[in-house]
Amino acid sequence: MRSSADVVVIGGGVVGASIAYNLAKQGVKDVVLCEKDTFANGSTGRCGAGVREQWGSEGNIRICKASIDIFENLQEELDYDYDIEFVQKGYLMMAYTEKEWDQFQKNVEVQHRLGVNSILCTPEEAKEIVPVLNTEGMFGATYNARDGHANPFHTTNAYLKAFERLGGEVNDFTEVTGIEKRGDKVAKVKTTKGDISAPVVVNAAGPWAAPVGSMVGVELPVYTERHQILVTEAVGHLFDPMLMSFSLGIYCQQTPHGSLVMGIGDPNEPKGYDIGQSWQFLKKMSDVMCRLVPALKGVRVVRQWSGLYTISPDAHPILGTVPGVDGYYQAVGFSGHGFMLAPIVGKLISEMIVGKEPSIDISDLDLGRFERGDLRVEPSVV
Ligand SMILES: Cc1cc2nc3c(=O)[nH]c(=O)nc-3n(C[C@H](O)[C@H](O)[C@H](O)COP(=O)(O)OP(=O)(O)OC[C@H]3O[C@@H](n4cnc5c(N)ncnc54)[C@H](O)[C@@H]3O)c2cc1C
Repeated sequence: MRSSADVVVIGGGVVGASIAYNLAKQGVKDVVLCEKDTFANGSTGRCGAGVREQWGSEGNIRICKASIDIFENLQEELDYDYDIEFVQKGYLMMAYTEKEWDQFQKNVEVQHRLGVNSILCTPEEAKEIVPVLNTEGMFGATYNARDGHANPFHTTNAYLKAFERLGGEVNDFTEVTGIEKRGDKVAKVKTTKGDISAPVVVNAAGPWAAPVGSMVGVELPVYTERHQILVTEAVGHLFDPMLMSFSLGIYCQQTPHGSLVMGIGDPNEPKGYDIGQSWQFLKKMSDVMCRLVPALKGVRVVRQWSGLYTISPDAHPILGTVPGVDGYYQAVGFSGHGFMLAPIVGKLISEMIVGKEPSIDISDLDLGRFERGDLRVEPSVV
């Protein structure tokens, strides 16, 4: 392992991998990525990997739209030998309360203003898009054909391979245990495999962002919470888009291989690092989905797992520098949507590090917004 570097990136999930690759692409010669376990073992390898630009807040729409622009050419850009399995078969967002339907109509107005071609659908129109859908109780839906999903393992691997080809070093099973400063400046990263002198360090530690932040005295207002997923056996084609409802707290997609991947939020889930599975989730998930898509009755569940959301007070990520800690950058607190943001966040953080103006203004996503009371509330999260 190198004993000095221009930048050390902490975390080998999709966010750290994208930042490392983008730094190398910007011409930073000596970048080292440290991952305490295997790559993508954290939230990334456990996520639904959905990608959408149908959001309610301007900030989220802008950055997710830019991320989809990157996803559309990512396979070629990274020159990956396998397939990141990015498919754009849309998201159908379903409203089951009047309040949700009102919000969706407002969301679509903002989306149109920002160039997202989403459409409002009556329940009948939603059924035309997904004929197997039971639309009972639905007020309406929105649909955007440009949304989609990808394979999180392949996406992370594609970034890491491209990063290595550009001269970067990746180290798995290498835990960062401390960060030393000289005065206000980051100077050295301590790991289980030795020390690395570096003037710049990036915290992309996902659910462990807070302990890593505390290594330089930065207190992050984030907490972690378990979210569960189940996967069914592969079945014939049922529907194309990701199905999502905020009032029901669900999302469900059919992968290119035919299996269905789905999750449902639990408002009573305690904060913490538990990544066990529960019978209650299995039961609730199956009940809700079989009601929405009766064709799922009898389809067998083959796997169940859980992962962690790292949640910030306004469900938006916390990005960039922290005054008083020179050389420290962070890309943390992604809540339930860090996978889709990884391509653009990697680009923006790398631009900041090399001293360029970020191609999208994300200054309002800094840590300071919580002290300023300038929260960016997002109405459309699962
Ligand atoms: C069930 C579920 C469904 C989701 N669905 C979606 C979705 O559909 N779309 C979407 O966009 N997002 C989704 N998400 C959110 C998404 O998974 C995360 O926001 C995203 O993966 C965050 O990536 P990351 O690289 O920041 O974190 P991680 O993937 O957790 O990576 C952080 C890495 O840092 C490493 N690390 C931590 N501390 C240290 C240390 N001290 N030294 C070295 N390494 C360290 C960890 O081992 C880990 O591998 C979902 C999440 C869950 C749990």
